[in-house]
Amino acid sequence: MYQYSTIQALSNGFYDGQLTVGEMKTKGNLGLGTFNGLDGEMIVLDGSVYKVTVDGKVHHVPNGEQTPFVNIVDFNGAVAQGKAIQNFSDLEILLQEIIVSKNLVAAFRIDGSFDYIKVRSVAKQERPYPKLMEALQTQKVFEYSDLEGTVLGFWQPEMMSSINLSGFHFHFISSDRSKGGHLLDCTIQSPQIKVEQFHKIELELPTSEEFKQMPLSVTKQSVYDPKFGQ
Ligand SMILES: [Zn+2]
Repeated sequence: MYQYSTIQALSNGFYDGQLTVGEMKTKGNLGLGTFNGLDGEMIVLDGSVYKVTVDGKVHHVPNGEQTPFVNIVDFNGAVAQGKAIQNFSDLEILLQEIIVSKNLVAAFRIDGSFDYIKVRSVAKQERPYPKLMEALQTQKVFEYSDLEGTVLGFWQPEMMSSINLSGFHFHFISSDRSKGGHLLDCTIQSPQIKVEQFHKIELELPTSEEFKQMPLSVTKQSVYDPKFGQ
């Protein structure tokens, strides 16, 4: 898994990275993150990069655009046994059963027809940047029913909690590439699940003065909660 910057930096308002989408694409074909200025939710699927803006719309992203945070893998997941998922906690329980070890990173891809899906996107921020939990007050939540699409994301082991969120983090994009966002809830009867675990992590830290000078001794309470708005 390749990671650019840390969730703790993002939580602290580090929203302008130096990594371009073009460079990022050389690191894998499945991933999630955001864009400079906290401009929406990033989805990387089958090597294509999509942005879900705060209006819920999906956009293709040019290679020159930059990101302050991303997790991306070269995904070649194996099929896992799926079963009906009624809500987010069902999803977490099922995927915890599927993974071989909670001490490795896991990447997931879940395709199917979702009875219900709840996602959010964030609004592009202006300087001086607020911290992430404050910026998320402007998030917009979207709920859809009977929507074909893909949930993708990660399990991060507890040991990752100083550079990432530990636990699950998912984004969603519809099959017609018109809807998507950061996943808050879902219901699906027949999910097609693929999983792959990773034991190598490449962490690239930003080189800007802003990052170098940023206080990063954040407490757990000040780190962003991926379930905010759930
Ligand atoms: Zn997210």
